Amino acid sequence: MRPAVLFPLFADVTTLPGIGPRFGKLIAKVAGPKVVDLLWHRPFGLVDRRFQPSVAEAPEGRICTLKVRIAEHVPSPNPRRPYRVLARDESGTVELVFFHAKGDWLAKALPLGEVRLVSGRVERFQGRVQMAHPDRIVGEDQAEELLRLEPVYPLTAGLPAGTLRKAIELAVERTPELPEWMDKPLREQRRWPSWREAIGMLHGPAGQGDLEPTASGRTRLAYDELLANQLALALMRQHQKRQAGRETRGTGKLRARILSALPYELTRSQVEADAEIAADLAGDKRMLRLLQGDVGSGKTVVALLAMIAAVEAGSQAALMAPTEILARQHMATIEPLAEAAGVPVALLTGRDKGKRREEILAGFASGAIPLAVGTHALVQDGVAFRDLALAVVDEQHRFGVDQRVELAAKGRAVDVLAMTATPIPRTLMLAAYGDLDVSRLTEKPAGRKPVDTRTVPLERLSEVVDAVGRAIAGGGQVFWVCPLIEDTSEGAPDDTTAAEVRHAELAARFGTDRVALVHGRLKAADKDKAMAAFADGTAKLLVATTVIEVGVDVPAATVMVIEHAERFGLAQLHQLRGRIGRGDKAATCLLLYQAPLGEAAKARLATLRETDDGFRIAEEDLRLRGAGEVLGKRQSGLPEFKAADLAVHGDLLPIAADDVKLILARDPELEGERGKALRTLLYLFERDAAVRYLRSG
Ligand code: ADP
Ligand code: MG
Repeated sequence: MRPAVLFPLFADVTTLPGIGPRFGKLIAKVAGPKVVDLLWHRPFGLVDRRFQPSVAEAPEGRICTLKVRIAEHVPSPNPRRPYRVLARDESGTVELVFFHAKGDWLAKALPLGEVRLVSGRVERFQGRVQMAHPDRIVGEDQAEELLRLEPVYPLTAGLPAGTLRKAIELAVERTPELPEWMDKPLREQRRWPSWREAIGMLHGPAGQGDLEPTASGRTRLAYDELLANQLALALMRQHQKRQAGRETRGTGKLRARILSALPYELTRSQVEADAEIAADLAGDKRMLRLLQGDVGSGKTVVALLAMIAAVEAGSQAALMAPTEILARQHMATIEPLAEAAGVPVALLTGRDKGKRREEILAGFASGAIPLAVGTHALVQDGVAFRDLALAVVDEQHRFGVDQRVELAAKGRAVDVLAMTATPIPRTLMLAAYGDLDVSRLTEKPAGRKPVDTRTVPLERLSEVVDAVGRAIAGGGQVFWVCPLIEDTSEGAPDDTTAAEVRHAELAARFGTDRVALVHGRLKAADKDKAMAAFADGTAKLLVATTVIEVGVDVPAATVMVIEHAERFGLAQLHQLRGRIGRGDKAATCLLLYQAPLGEAAKARLATLRETDDGFRIAEEDLRLRGAGEVLGKRQSGLPEFKAADLAVHGDLLPIAADDVKLILARDPELEGERGKALRTLLYLFERDAAVRYLRSG
């Protein structure tokens, strides 16, 4: 249950005086529906309303607050001319100018003979002092509130700045002081304010410096949020580790058959990862391990060995991939090896319907099919296993956490192996997964040659096409990546090369049968047909959009052409390039760019030319783009932070992680005084689910 002290903050914004349903909706749009959301709505600028010159001295172009007596209303003779209000102080007269004004509103706001403070930008026009549409008009009694640094907030259409500002002021007033959850020495050492003070500083900045993300109030709030994030993840882990696990121990019989069917030796890091996973499986704790390895590092076979251990122990294992193409790719690797071991395996995707689907489901349910490979079709209702012991989730950051949990829920005490080819920097890794067990595949399988990467200006396209022709003549296969499918409606630039157009051109040159096309808008069956033609070597050239980004494996492909490489992100280019150089032949990647290159694009392409190390590229990507972008919000397991910015506050994350370790070692159920305060923190950052993992949640 949410602590009562937080109730006022979790009430609807319409509970604030002056906020009705109409403004409530607009506030929900720009900040969120609850009072607490307003606290996180940060100002991006400041207006100084403290400058109070006399009318005569008010400088042109500057924001001034003038104290004046209203002298005369001059309604406009026709609606296209402004309504003017003359107001005076001892030094002179200012014309307050209003276009499309409502006379009765003005009569009320600026009553004749009364003193008002008006604040806004002063203009001088033909010797007259003017202020068009003052930002603020208040009576003398509100002078103190007006004469200060006023925060400026992001708005949305229809929401007056004053209404939003007032609502935020009320939200800040409503903010209670909360019991301190922070480690005392840490707070003292950093000289951080209390939570309530920090909120006050965020919305009542004393200067421009207070708006910086490194300001002490903001930093404290960022730490609070990271602490909540780490605590929630750690509680989830604690809970998971406490749940009964199962000891999955293989006999080694099937495994031996698979190893002898492999046409290669496992790399050292594959052997290590395999051993780490086997130890987890054999242990009585639940496994949650991340297998991290660059594209082509050989994760699938490591996963298969784990899955086979489950089969040897008499249970089942499932591998779930985020796309159809990836699922098929895994199936292509796994099927022949499983066959060699005499273990039935079935692929289930959204496209399996009717009788075929019935048969597969029956096989899973009876246990006759011990190995499952598929897309999220595997977590649909109606899919049941006799005894699922291991769930392997590939590129899990593309799924919601829910889907991982749903797959695990298809069995009892299911061990989970997550796989990713995204080399995630440690900071992001901590934020997204917490302190997770990780196995890393650090080396490429033996015999692989580094890809020769070159940058080529687009003007030399015809030379590139000639080179592609030579590669094909020499028995090679070529990926050709285009950045867009077709011209966008908003008038794409002329040089935008649509995959369809490029495909038509290349097909005309090299023959329709030898050039395949895949893009996201093709029907699944056509996509598969194209991929299959390329995979079996019928098609020599595959023109594609980034749908081939992850996973697709065609060892005979030795050339990759990427058009408009400057438009792609670093990590994306690295992923794409990983599609080639998978066989034993030398491979070339041609990055075609549109000159002139911007600084950032130049840096990206240079990094790619220099290195093939996914982790180095990831760090560089983080540096060039900032944290939020690296994983891409949509596709990441990365939470959306309200106060923290990992690019700025990332250093606080390991501190928070260590803090959490100590907290849970001393008070695993968060029952002590600080523990209770930490529960409030979890609710404050809406990590309610984590509280449920506590025994007395
Ligand atoms: P990832 O999923 O990590 O991108 P895959 O598991 O798809 O990589 O493996 C890529 C290719 O490398 C596959 O064709 C696979 O058969 C092959 N492979 C895997 N391990 C080795 C190895 N140790 N030596 C040689 N080739 C390997
Ligand atoms: Mg793979």
